[in-house]
Amino acid sequence: MGAFKHLETKVVRAGEPSPRIEGAVITPIFQSAMFEYAGETSYHDLKYIRLNNTPTHIALHAKLAAMENGEAALAAASGMAAISTTLLTVLAPGDHLLAQDCLYGGTDDLLTTELAALGIETTFIDADTPASWPALVRPNTRAIYVESLTNPLLQIADLEAVVQFAKDHRLVSLIDNTFATPVNFQPIDHGFDLVLHSATKYLNGHADIVAGVVIGSRHWIERITHRLNHLGGSLDPHAAFLLDRGLKTLVVRMRYQNASAQRIAERLHEHPAVARVNYAGLASHARHERARRLFGGFSGMLSFEVNGGADAADRFIAHTTLPIIAPSLGGAETLLTRPALTSHAGMDPERRRKAGISDGLIRMSVGLESPDEIVDDLMQALEAAAVSTTG
Ligand SMILES: *Cc1c(COP(=O)(O)O)cnc(C)c1O
Repeated sequence: MGAFKHLETKVVRAGEPSPRIEGAVITPIFQSAMFEYAGETSYHDLKYIRLNNTPTHIALHAKLAAMENGEAALAAASGMAAISTTLLTVLAPGDHLLAQDCLYGGTDDLLTTELAALGIETTFIDADTPASWPALVRPNTRAIYVESLTNPLLQIADLEAVVQFAKDHRLVSLIDNTFATPVNFQPIDHGFDLVLHSATKYLNGHADIVAGVVIGSRHWIERITHRLNHLGGSLDPHAAFLLDRGLKTLVVRMRYQNASAQRIAERLHEHPAVARVNYAGLASHARHERARRLFGGFSGMLSFEVNGGADAADRFIAHTTLPIIAPSLGGAETLLTRPALTSHAGMDPERRRKAGISDGLIRMSVGLESPDEIVDDLMQALEAAAVSTTG
């Protein structure tokens, strides 16, 4: 099988078994827990679903690696399985981690509870202020961890400085690329060591499985795979098949969602009842220039505030008819949430406000519906909820 050049081709064709299995155009699901012994000499090479090596897994891993320009990849039972297993491979008790200060809630909890209990300490950094980092490095600092677009404010850290800093201090650089996807940002091309995704979101794209992936060098992925083999958070072959299927449309979905979110963000931005819109594709975004330099598109995620705070936000949401009020993101259906009540409810209210997450902030995952219909619905909801047009 030749190496495919473009992402559009890779997501469809990379990883296909050669020769095709019984001529099947689509890689079949190998729903068999164990496989006949064939003389394997290492435990990790025995064919068994938990060892992440059925033909369905092998095809998926090759596609994932190709898509992020990594040497190798591993799928796991959830985004958190991929993140926890990766961190438990990169870090050992006594090690120290630098991590962005506004990570996905589950990751933040993992670092501050589970890893802390194992003797792995984290210092949270302002990932947009490289000058503040050197003072935080310790002799036992091993890694630096960031996200390509943060939740729910869609901030973009100084990603180039993170890579350079990691090289200068011999740290492993890790990035959660869930919100951007390789369609919009390719971390390995920019020098990151390991790329993580909650494949539950855009990679699968259909809101019907939970899965995670990690992509990087052969050296790291082999070590992470052996760790996952022991920890057991392996992806079921049927879910692996669905993820492979979802990936085939990643590029067309993401480009459409990029374009829809841009339009929706612009319409909200110019509306007098809207106080603020967070979207990297708007010139008003604090890191718009950086986004344009590093990113091919700005994702289908945006957040905004309407005039009048939490009460007005609730009234507005109650008057929308098209979006579904639900957490998570990246599927075909447009979803709305208020982070203060959902994803960031566990955060201390003072810390939450300081981070810029107001009680009235509304987060939107733009789906695959008509963007005109989404805009019309948002506009009628602003009107019906009588959101003040004077800030
Ligand atoms: C959802 C999410 C995760 C966790 O993924 P699961 O598949 O739910 O385990 C990690 N990082 C980000 C940025 C996410 O959005």
